[in-house]
Amino acid sequence: MKNFIITLTLILTLSHPGAFAAAKPAAPPNPLLSKTIAIDPGHGGYDPGAIWGDIYEKDINLRVAKAVKKHLERAGAKVVLTRDGDYNHAIAGLHGREAKRYDLNQRIKLINAHKADIAITIHVNSVSKRSYEGAEAFYHPKSAEGKKLALAIQQELRAIPGMKQRIAKISNCYMLSNTRVPAVLVEVGFLSNAHERELLQDPAYLDTLARKIAAGVVIYYTAPAGAAKQGILQKTATGLDFVFRIMEHTFFAGNRHENSRCNCIIH
Ligand SMILES: [Zn+2]
Repeated sequence: MKNFIITLTLILTLSHPGAFAAAKPAAPPNPLLSKTIAIDPGHGGYDPGAIWGDIYEKDINLRVAKAVKKHLERAGAKVVLTRDGDYNHAIAGLHGREAKRYDLNQRIKLINAHKADIAITIHVNSVSKRSYEGAEAFYHPKSAEGKKLALAIQQELRAIPGMKQRIAKISNCYMLSNTRVPAVLVEVGFLSNAHERELLQDPAYLDTLARKIAAGVVIYYTAPAGAAKQGILQKTATGLDFVFRIMEHTFFAGNRHENSRCNCIIH
């Protein structure tokens, strides 16, 4: 009888590993399940953005944006892309700045029409100083939520091995100034830097960038309330500490002598 009970206990334990464990507290609801996130791949169509030889910013933007969508959907969010192919939203007859402004307004209308909770516009930087490298997030100076989102994304991007330790910065560019919801512009790297140009052509690196941008969004939504309760969110809580540390101690000091900027006067 004793052997029978031991055998039965063993079978039950193996087939139901949690059968004899204490009941665990229910996991907190996933806040991303109720969120719509707009991802805007910058440029498109006749507007290539930054160019280096036959490498176009618009193509990198779209690859990263599609990968961010994939990762955020896996995390439970609804994701809308403002474009999912090689085009922009300007209409025939418009040219130059007027066409660009029309395109951006259409993207903003899409973000609003989908009632997106946040928006992230994806770009690639290019400057005359070829030593500049590293991904960086920008937010509008009047958006506290945009700043929080940018800091969360920035700290995740900084965690990519070998990544230049840039900081989130302010920008008054058109998308950030005119999007009603918290919005962040991410320049995923510098096409003008030889090393980063190589990386930006590597699908695995683009996926890493996308995963980190998505992780920043998860931190933005999950860190404030009860984040440390679940193992999966421990990293989140640590991440938020880091975000706040940047905000309090190094953000403003760092911002003054960082002289790269979002190259998006009419973005
Ligand atoms: Zn751009």
